[in-house]
Amino acid sequence: MIQKLLGQKYGDYLAFIRRQMIKDQIESRGVKDPRVLAAMDKVCRHCFVTEDMLSRSYEDYPLPLARGQTISQPYIVALMSELAGLAGGERVLEIGTGSGYQAAVLAELAAEVDTVELFADLSAAAQARLAKLGYANINFRTGDGAAGWPERAPYDAIVVTCAAPAIPEALAAQLKPGGRLVIPVGTGAQELRLAIKTPEGLKERAVAGVSFVPMLREGA
Ligand code: SAH
Repeated sequence: MIQKLLGQKYGDYLAFIRRQMIKDQIESRGVKDPRVLAAMDKVCRHCFVTEDMLSRSYEDYPLPLARGQTISQPYIVALMSELAGLAGGERVLEIGTGSGYQAAVLAELAAEVDTVELFADLSAAAQARLAKLGYANINFRTGDGAAGWPERAPYDAIVVTCAAPAIPEALAAQLKPGGRLVIPVGTGAQELRLAIKTPEGLKERAVAGVSFVPMLREGA
């Protein structure tokens, strides 16, 4: 609506503050991958927020979605995308579709993205939004993401956008050898972990303290 009223100038303004966001919030905190920075510039975060939040689209915070969920802070989306280590040909699984914003960023960086969301209405809204934006390389599933998407595994990378008490075994099992899992772990205080699948099992490291909505159980 605001965009319709103000026309092209508002679009230019949003593109300008998106570039500021990349410089001030993302590059300044150490994200360097040029493909990730380009994807963050290409994907209009304002296309994924509710209308009342439009003017806050490029601020340094998560923003509210329906059902008490949130669209992650831009820096965290960029950081997780960088940790996924994508070069362009990969198949990626995302857990927690939410608004579809992280899925769009991943779809810019990989060949194909599968995304699983617990709530059917959030998944349907994200699907409509991403189709309108022209994404043809994202597949949607409604269900408990702790189970992954076994029929379409294995994956080069898995990005989880809700916090699990521990790494779900199904997700580890659905990674290719050398595959990368990016996941917030913990109840209360959480840490973002990068886990790489090796012949000896997952090799994990903690990257940062984070604050994600919890991974819910089906029927909860
Ligand atoms: N990636 C999203 C942010 C999502 S917030 C974006 O870019 O907008 C976390 C999402 O995980 C919410 O949409 C929530 O409904 C979903 N979620 C919570 N528990 C889940 C589970 N067990 N399986 C799949 N999705 C889940």
